[in-house]
Amino acid sequence: MDDINKQSSGNFDGRGSNSLPPGASLRSWLAHLESKKRIAFANPGVKLKYELAGIANRLDGRKASFFPAPDGHSVPVVSGIVSDRGWMAEALGVSDDELLKRFQTAMAEPIAPHQVSEAPCQEVVHREVDLNAQLPVPTHNELDSGPYIAAGLIIVRNPQTGVQNVAIVRLQVSGKDRLGALLLPRHTLAFHEMNERSGKDCDVAIVIGASPAELLASQAIAPINFDEMQIAGGLIGASIPVVKCLNSDIRVPAQAEIVLEGRLLAEQRKPEGPFGEFPQYYGERADRHVIAVDCVTHRKDPVFHTIVGGGLEHLLLGCIPLEATILDSIQRNFPNVKDVALSRGGVHRYHLYVQMTPRSAGEPMNVIMAAFASHYDLKQVIVVDEDVDIHNPVEVEWAVSTRFQASRDLVVINGSQGSKLDPSTDNGVGSKMGFNATKPLDAPEFKYKRIRVPGQEDIDLDSKLDPNGKLGESYRAV
Ligand code: MN
Repeated sequence: MDDINKQSSGNFDGRGSNSLPPGASLRSWLAHLESKKRIAFANPGVKLKYELAGIANRLDGRKASFFPAPDGHSVPVVSGIVSDRGWMAEALGVSDDELLKRFQTAMAEPIAPHQVSEAPCQEVVHREVDLNAQLPVPTHNELDSGPYIAAGLIIVRNPQTGVQNVAIVRLQVSGKDRLGALLLPRHTLAFHEMNERSGKDCDVAIVIGASPAELLASQAIAPINFDEMQIAGGLIGASIPVVKCLNSDIRVPAQAEIVLEGRLLAEQRKPEGPFGEFPQYYGERADRHVIAVDCVTHRKDPVFHTIVGGGLEHLLLGCIPLEATILDSIQRNFPNVKDVALSRGGVHRYHLYVQMTPRSAGEPMNVIMAAFASHYDLKQVIVVDEDVDIHNPVEVEWAVSTRFQASRDLVVINGSQGSKLDPSTDNGVGSKMGFNATKPLDAPEFKYKRIRVPGQEDIDLDSKLDPNGKLGESYRAV
């Protein structure tokens, strides 16, 4: 009986693991990537400083990279596991065009986690902490201050209600049991400050080797006191098994690879940064929060996940939840907006393409305003008709080049809040620009009729082409 309990603990319940999408755990996802030949395996001994990130960047968006024994360390490192939009959809078991809808549904109909008593993430316990000895922490970009834990989910609890918050925070390894943390003015900081006001440290857990669903859910733009772990449940259609930490009441995903248990220290600030961030620039060095790590738990054979700053994995993890939130917000007033996409050139944060069928003259301008109101990070919005593929930047530029006139279709809003990580802003304050690249509603139909060859897309090329065909001799004569 004991053994049965032990074996079943830490597993998903409900639908049974066969119907779970592959992104329900890091391991099932890695197995899926391997079956699709999307993991490149490095030779043992790749250097943790720069070399690992360099290889991951070279493969970014094409293959995940797996590094056995980096610098001889017994724990392997994996990176680039969700560096493609299509992979994200696959991880959740949906098609590409259902991805945003799935995210919206997961936020509207979250599934709460359930607690288990034993978990793989606690198979090994280190009460003596030595981060660089116990974990293979890489140094990514040239001016990074040192090794960083870049794919750690930081989990804290509201000290009054116990409701948890999940986020990803960049974590500088500052000593053998010390981390420097950049806490943006959001929910982790709010819960920490509730503790700090009464002079208390804030318990934290840092989860490394989380599932694609958990990583994505952690980036949701959710209200405070809304546990992102239940969004992860909604994303995979099953309750996430969680286990209580050894030193605190925080619940962490049972299937995780590695968990650091510690405390955000009250009233302590130490230098953190610089660190290579998503806009392809460095976040600066400043006095920031400090975490004391009290214990490390992990699987018997853990895998360390790292997200290389500025890579596609970094960009896409923020992109999908932001797109879902923006689409939700715009569609409340404009149900005729069909889809949105944050462009890669706009670091998947700043430049938005909107696809819609305008119902009345001027409406695309209102949609531009709705888009800017939906998130302060947006800097440029381009609205196009439904015949333009917003996941293809060449198509969007075509719409701008043939349907847009600056004197008529451009709107500029100055002195508004933007991203502080955009170096061209004045500490986050800057201009926004909207393009209406839809065709005028009153234009004669023929004028904007897109050329097409009838039947082109239905031709079966294999049956029409001759693989052995060659130029006849008479055509070779000069
Ligand atoms: Mn939150």
